[in-house]
Amino acid sequence: MNIDLRSDTVTKPTEAMLRAMAEAEVGDDVYREDPTVNRLEEIAAERLGKEAALFVTSGTQGNQIAVLTHCVNGDEVILEAESHLFYYEGGAMSALAGVQTRTIHGERGSMRAKDVEKAIRGNNIHFPRTKLICLENTHNRAGGAVGTVEQMKSIYEVAQKNSVPVHLDGARLFNAAIALGVDVGELCKYTDTVQICLSKGLSAPVGSIIAGDRDFIEEARWWRKKLGGGLRQAGYLAAPGILALTQMTERLVEDHERAKQLSDGLRKLSLKVDTVETNIVLLHTESIHQTAVDFLERLAERGVLAVDFDDYVIRFTTHRHISESDIARVLEIVEELLGAATASH
Ligand SMILES: *Cc1c(COP(=O)(O)O)cnc(C)c1O
Repeated sequence: MNIDLRSDTVTKPTEAMLRAMAEAEVGDDVYREDPTVNRLEEIAAERLGKEAALFVTSGTQGNQIAVLTHCVNGDEVILEAESHLFYYEGGAMSALAGVQTRTIHGERGSMRAKDVEKAIRGNNIHFPRTKLICLENTHNRAGGAVGTVEQMKSIYEVAQKNSVPVHLDGARLFNAAIALGVDVGELCKYTDTVQICLSKGLSAPVGSIIAGDRDFIEEARWWRKKLGGGLRQAGYLAAPGILALTQMTERLVEDHERAKQLSDGLRKLSLKVDTVETNIVLLHTESIHQTAVDFLERLAERGVLAVDFDDYVIRFTTHRHISESDIARVLEIVEELLGAATASH
């Protein structure tokens, strides 16, 4: 069996989720007659501290619906230069919403409020209109880095002052909340709309939630249908989502402990690892004179899977199927590979 550290998306539904799916009460959700979807949306809205929520097929669909709902084509969106919305969504913001992106480099994924403020366009006949600011917490490419409540608040204040809404890509927002020891609602106070993934560390098989005020969610529902995301007996998919939100958030602390165990172990082997705050570990491979892809190939031969994040950066992501002994095994394998590399020099 491989030790699969490629992503927390590989998590399979729990036994309780499978039972809930089999027993779900369903109806046609396009007619809003699926009681299980309706319940998931109510629970999610309450948990995130927003008026309403919408079940969507994926994080990408949720983010794109948010952009489509907030903007019209030609508008400008301010977002972090390595954010998922910019980096990993196939150029969808430009292709679908027809918006222009204004990227800002953050510090461990968090933009500074004053840089955001400077980027907001004034009123000038030459300029596009700044219609949205997007944040990401935790920040994936920054290695699961956490944005603090203060950082989010400072950007929200700038946004409000300039009447620009904020959307939070909170694919791993529960990881951020657990790491900060705050309620997710506390983080959502400083954003107008939010997307969270049920299908990552929370272990649901499918789906994301977007939340915001009632008018926003009504309009988002229209966009979801238009994009082909209006599902029918979707309660079978919403049922595990309910358990994801009500039973699976607290255990994320275990994933964070495993990530810490991995990063501590890698450092003991004199490897360079970024600061670990949640369930992502970024390993730098320059010092061992191997590209990420080469080192990954040798790990895969020994049954350890991860992904390359840059020429010399590997990402490991911990999740529910990774145990303490799995991490110990990964560290043994890395040590053996390093030994082999030294011997062959
Ligand atoms: C995974 C992820 C998404 C997209 O979610 P999908 O369900 O894979 O489309 C969006 N943003 C971030 C930060 C992510 O990590």
